[in-house]
Amino acid sequence: MSKVTKDRDHTLEETGKALYFSAHTDGFHRGEVARKNERLDSMSETHRTKVLIIGSGPAGYTAAIYAARANLEPILVQGLQPGGQLTITTEVENYPGFADVIQGPWLMEQMQKQAEHVGTKMHFDIINEVNFDERPFVCTGDSGNSYVADAVIIATGAQARWLGLPGEETYNGKGVSACATCDGFFYRGKEVAVIGGGNTAVEEALYLSNICSKVTLVHRRDELRCEKILEDRLLKNEKIDIQWNKVVDEVLGTDTDGVTGIKIKDTQNGTFSEIDVNGMFVAIGHDPATKIFQGKLDLDDENYILAKPGTATTNIPGVFAAGDCVDKIYRQAVTAAGLGCMAALEAERYITELND
Ligand code: FAD
Ligand code: NAP
Repeated sequence: MSKVTKDRDHTLEETGKALYFSAHTDGFHRGEVARKNERLDSMSETHRTKVLIIGSGPAGYTAAIYAARANLEPILVQGLQPGGQLTITTEVENYPGFADVIQGPWLMEQMQKQAEHVGTKMHFDIINEVNFDERPFVCTGDSGNSYVADAVIIATGAQARWLGLPGEETYNGKGVSACATCDGFFYRGKEVAVIGGGNTAVEEALYLSNICSKVTLVHRRDELRCEKILEDRLLKNEKIDIQWNKVVDEVLGTDTDGVTGIKIKDTQNGTFSEIDVNGMFVAIGHDPATKIFQGKLDLDDENYILAKPGTATTNIPGVFAAGDCVDKIYRQAVTAAGLGCMAALEAERYITELND
């Protein structure tokens, strides 16, 4: 019972279980889902592969391209966001190889096609359980399917934290961003605000001060969380104004102009004021998508997967990690792709040694 369907312009192989998956994410009545689940449990399949790749961002697709070209016949499980974070942005200008500006969703579609052309099997599923205690490794999907693999490459990425304001969503990509390195260029000569007081917020404010005419850092306390050296640079920078003890109450804008300002609230006296800005960069932290690996792999205190420095190797031989789920510093498509490449090359070496 397999058919081909179009989802977000991706051609996906859809099984009975994948149909269940859509129903599940669309929020079907719980009882109905439970009944479907029971039916599907009896239909669940086991997929055997040398390499299972979890995640379909730049790290996952690059790992897939290398693993497939090494004849490892990889299976890639795409997760809830096929294509990863770049599918929610528009212009990408810093991914090498393209003289003209490209669109994030288009780039990810190309990566998926390239991975498929060289032999990767794509599965529209979400891994919700992993067993790394026994070999081969067994990962179980939301569909009920099992993926049995000699090596696993984790490329589940990370998600920026947002403030949770309605305007933030309305103007996402139209003035609201969570990545100064990615989007700062579009605000050349304009005024912007950065929200947060940690290393990321301060680094982003410093970075933007080289591009924008003015940067306002909005922080909810009167003390920064960032390193002292960054704080010194920030305080010395004449293009940066700091709004202490302030939180954003509303993102202001119009359909045509995008963001035009922010309304901020003083946490000490409750008064409101407005700042005219064309961009708001939210830098209040990221959450790596590693919940299912807690207790299964070594993670750091912020739940990023710990890899041996300069490699994609985790504490479990045969389990590799790449991209934003392991890298909290660079968080770029090209670095994620590079780490995906490293993970696949390491997985290939691991499997070769396994078979020697
Ligand atoms: P992600 O892209 O985060 O992909 C993670 C994948 O894992 C997803 O496919 C998800 O479905 C899957 N997944 C998660 N959990 C599971 C699970 N349990 N089972 C199966 N699959 C799972 N970078 C740049 O270099 N240039 C830019 O211009 C740029 N612009 C950006 C704009 C925005 C709005 C954002 C949010 C980010 C931007 N970035 C940019 C950063 C870039 O997108 C990330 O660094 C990059 O996508 C990280 O790649 P990744 O493969 O590690 O993970
Ligand atoms: P972070 O250290 O957790 O800082 C987040 C900041 O956002 C804090 O100042 C916090 O305020 C603020 N914040 C959180 N939620 C908020 C909300 N809802 N509204 C308003 N403000 C909010 O995150 P990060 O800066 O992304 O850094 C993450 C990790 O990466 C850290 O370990 C950091 O050291 C590391 N990092 C290192 C470098 C470097 O070494 N150069 C660069 C970037 C990141 P409070 O201070 O009041 O909590």
